Amino acid sequence: MQKKPAAALYDETMSQHGHRLTEQRRHVYDVLLEKRDHPTAVEVFIRVKEKKPSISLATVYNCLETLTDCGLAKQVNVDRGPSRYCPNLEDHGHFFCGGCGAVFDVPIRKTRSSDWELPPDTVLLQREVSLRGLCPECATQKETSKAKSKS
Ligand SMILES: [Zn+2]
Ligand SMILES: [Zn+2]
Repeated sequence: MQKKPAAALYDETMSQHGHRLTEQRRHVYDVLLEKRDHPTAVEVFIRVKEKKPSISLATVYNCLETLTDCGLAKQVNVDRGPSRYCPNLEDHGHFFCGGCGAVFDVPIRKTRSSDWELPPDTVLLQREVSLRGLCPECATQKETSKAKSKS
């Protein structure tokens, strides 16, 4: 699949939504694209600060809000924890690991138009799928500790 370079998409989407392209917003967006581990606002702040030490947490919050408003990023909420941010705009679900707290993107197979038994004429605009379990690493660790306690 041919994708537009992120920078071009960014410029276009920002101006479509009447937002100015600021250096700070670009830094925040770059951080989201660089490491797709669904960071919280504070984690984004720490990463942006490495490149732009003068940035404040409030600015990072504002930038994240703007990016979410423009549809360049999505907010992901895990239980009552702080919101995390995801720049993946493809239809996907999130897998939450109960062991290490990692959040992974899970692509959704586009088989049918709807996997849900919705009443006829319902318009589905968005689906949010949350999957919970253990990532391969945590699952292996659990197995090894089980085996150890047995012997
Ligand atoms: Zn995601
Ligand atoms: Zn894990």
